[in-house]
Amino acid sequence: MKISRFKKSHKTLVFFASNFDYREPYQVLVDATFCQAALQHKIGIEEQIRKYFQCNVKLLTTQCVILEAEALGAPLTGATTIVKQFHVHKCGHEGKPVAAAECIKSMTKDNRYVVASQDRLLQASLRKIPGRCLLYLHKATPVLEAPSAASKKWVLKRAKNLMLGKQADKIDYMKQQQGIKPTEPAVKKKQQRGPKNPNPLSCKKSKKQKAAPQGVQQTTTTIAKAKRKRVKISAHIKELIN
Ligand SMILES: [Zn+2]
Repeated sequence: MKISRFKKSHKTLVFFASNFDYREPYQVLVDATFCQAALQHKIGIEEQIRKYFQCNVKLLTTQCVILEAEALGAPLTGATTIVKQFHVHKCGHEGKPVAAAECIKSMTKDNRYVVASQDRLLQASLRKIPGRCLLYLHKATPVLEAPSAASKKWVLKRAKNLMLGKQADKIDYMKQQQGIKPTEPAVKKKQQRGPKNPNPLSCKKSKKQKAAPQGVQQTTTTIAKAKRKRVKISAHIKELIN
């Protein structure tokens, strides 16, 4: 098997394992349509699936799948023989068998099964439900279908809720902290805001005005004032004064 194919299937398995609790050995629920396709392409299901997954896999089916295959008779004789080889899981329809597709749908409600089927209607139906994992044969090659849009959406929504939950926890935590030390940060803020804003502004003006009559600054300011006066005096007025 090509490395890229393994990477793809591995990525898909990791997605289902981390988000929907799929675990090794992965349980593959096989129906008669899958067996029929395998027979047509002359592949050994168990061998190919094991190769494809490259990990522990358990192949199984249900009584409903077997009964439906048997009921379809001659066209599915080979497929029926194959599907009967797998371990039969109890499906809850004992004595009251249902259609294979309905049985598989009900089986995937509470358990993590990789559904191996060529039934397009069943596949379409399972794609709508988050967490359903599909395996099908593309000619003679098993393909683990990438997570459906419904599965991805569900995971995204859960991630968003987790984020919101974490943010709420952070806010609660911060509130608790403030509850423990309610006055200190509030007082500090007031102290910081108080002196920082008004003091430099008010001090500059008052200091300049007050500092002006003392020392060097006094001379410079007085010179500046004198200069300003000189500038204002025009030449003809100077002549008049002189
Ligand atoms: Zn059943």
